[in-house]
Amino acid sequence: MSRALNKEGNILDLTNLLARVKPSEKASFEFSFDENSEFAAPYKFVGAGLANLEARLDGDQIKLVGEIIVPMEFVCSKCGVSFEENLFVEVNEILTSEFDQEHFVISANKVDLDDIVNQLVIVNIPSRVLCKDNCLGVCSNCGKNLNEGACDCKIKFNEDNPFVKLADKFK
Ligand SMILES: [Zn+2]
Ligand SMILES: [Zn+2]
Repeated sequence: MSRALNKEGNILDLTNLLARVKPSEKASFEFSFDENSEFAAPYKFVGAGLANLEARLDGDQIKLVGEIIVPMEFVCSKCGVSFEENLFVEVNEILTSEFDQEHFVISANKVDLDDIVNQLVIVNIPSRVLCKDNCLGVCSNCGKNLNEGACDCKIKFNEDNPFVKLADKFK
């Protein structure tokens, strides 16, 4: 997997947390994705993202909580129109010192926040988005974006529809 972040590293040192000297360590930083990165396709990254993260002791565990906000240009799955919106990722992850496929790993008392942000953004990019909840999509016959108004197709279908003519006979 190619690394999408091109900023210098954001490494969070958890030494004091692991020693239980401090209850939490916070990190806030901006980041940008490589404009040529293909992994968002057909969507695009359109500006600096923001990560507000906090590693905190939670019983025997260390958790990483917070949020990641990434400005993106999406393409509506129904009507095909592009629109800008923030991708919002709520972070609630367990950090572990032992190698584990499911969790982010603490290595030499540190975690690589760039790597974590990178992976969380990738898995949270939606496969399907709508420009609005009630997007009407495009007419399957003429291709007109029905959010901009109705097309004439429906009227023609009705005129040609034998069942409509049949129904007229019984009026
Ligand atoms: Zn749409
Ligand atoms: Zn139409």
